[in-house]
Amino acid sequence: MDKQQRKRRAAAKKRMRQHVRDRKKQINIHSYGSGKWIKGILIAAMLCFLSVFVLTATDTLNQQQADEQKQIIIDLNVQSETMLAGENLPQLKAKTSFSGDEERTIDADGKYTVKQLLQELNQGEGYELSCEGDGMAEGEFPIQIALKDDLTKKLDADWGGEVKLVTYTGVLTVKNKVGTWDGKKFKRYDGTYVTDDFVESQGSRYYFNSNGDMVTGELKKGYSIYNFDQNGKLVSETNLIDPAKPMVAITYDDGPGKRTNELLDVLEENKAHATFFLLGQKMNNSTADLVKRMAQVGSEAANHSWSHPQLTKKNEEEIKKQMEDTNNSIVNLGGVTPMTFRPPYGAINDMVRANVKMPLILWSVDTLDWKTKDAKATVDHVMNNVKDGDIILMHDVHDSTIDASKELIPKLIEAGYQLVTVSEMAAARGITLEAGQSYTEFWK
Ligand code: ZN
Repeated sequence: MDKQQRKRRAAAKKRMRQHVRDRKKQINIHSYGSGKWIKGILIAAMLCFLSVFVLTATDTLNQQQADEQKQIIIDLNVQSETMLAGENLPQLKAKTSFSGDEERTIDADGKYTVKQLLQELNQGEGYELSCEGDGMAEGEFPIQIALKDDLTKKLDADWGGEVKLVTYTGVLTVKNKVGTWDGKKFKRYDGTYVTDDFVESQGSRYYFNSNGDMVTGELKKGYSIYNFDQNGKLVSETNLIDPAKPMVAITYDDGPGKRTNELLDVLEENKAHATFFLLGQKMNNSTADLVKRMAQVGSEAANHSWSHPQLTKKNEEEIKKQMEDTNNSIVNLGGVTPMTFRPPYGAINDMVRANVKMPLILWSVDTLDWKTKDAKATVDHVMNNVKDGDIILMHDVHDSTIDASKELIPKLIEAGYQLVTVSEMAAARGITLEAGQSYTEFWK
């Protein structure tokens, strides 16, 4: 090997080593370079993420702080109420609901606080509550709330929209004052059922018979005829007494008599009413049916003492006993409560007035039927003397009076008189009968 050749080899080796070193270096640089790039990306991503997170968090916090600083939201809830129909309407009110700093001021001067506003709202200031429910008809009625203009102005302008009021309506529930429906019956709140009476429900009137069942169709009660539709709603009411038209009250004393039932037939056929002043001592199981029928045909069973004494000659205890025994027997046997009293012979003094405890009914037309016992004379006397508002005195224990009545009742009706009971006539004339007071007629 010559010198030249060794030199070339040495140079070649050197280049080779250099190449290997370079190559290693290259590889090293490469491997080092790619690791750093990934780490860089990761760090950048993390930084980016962190910054976004921090920015977002700061942003939210700032926003919240800004909001808190900016808007105060107060809920104003109308209170719901429940009442019974016909009672006084409850005081409608609204209550605030707010969570936040009540001490914050909201006006430009920095004097008016949230707390003051809440107090005023809770006292009912700044708004109107209204409800269509009148408290009479049952149902559920929304209670509306409307802010008054001055409060709206404050919210929008004076307080720069810082305070927001969110209002919520309430409900007024009006329950039936008597009870609730139970099928076709009406159950009172105490659990008993309504019988022989009207009930007002959902703006309509209903009637329940003695079994508690809702009535449909026609119902005659007293001097009225009621018509109910198939759902039991009252659709018409005809009061057979016209207060503007003439009326008289025929009264029969001292009964019941043997032919009282015949008299009731006449009254029923003519749709006429009369008042029967009964003697307590004549009440028994057979006359009890007559008293029941009197009520059925719209007539009035009343008190005429137990044994027909002249009460002005009796003492307090005797008067009271005459009254009470008679009332009790009529109630117990006839099932009706006497509302009026006729003193035998029309005899009244202060002691009688003080002890009878009932209105005393006298008369303005005395037929003297007990004396004449003449049907024609009785009819003529009435027809020649009768006028609007009269109380006519007769006795249903005489045959002549029953005969007279058969003629007289249609005649009076033909002459334009409504034949009513004493109580009906007083009511039609707007007079409330009072215990101890005496009444002779109900002239206009
Ligand atoms: Zn008498």
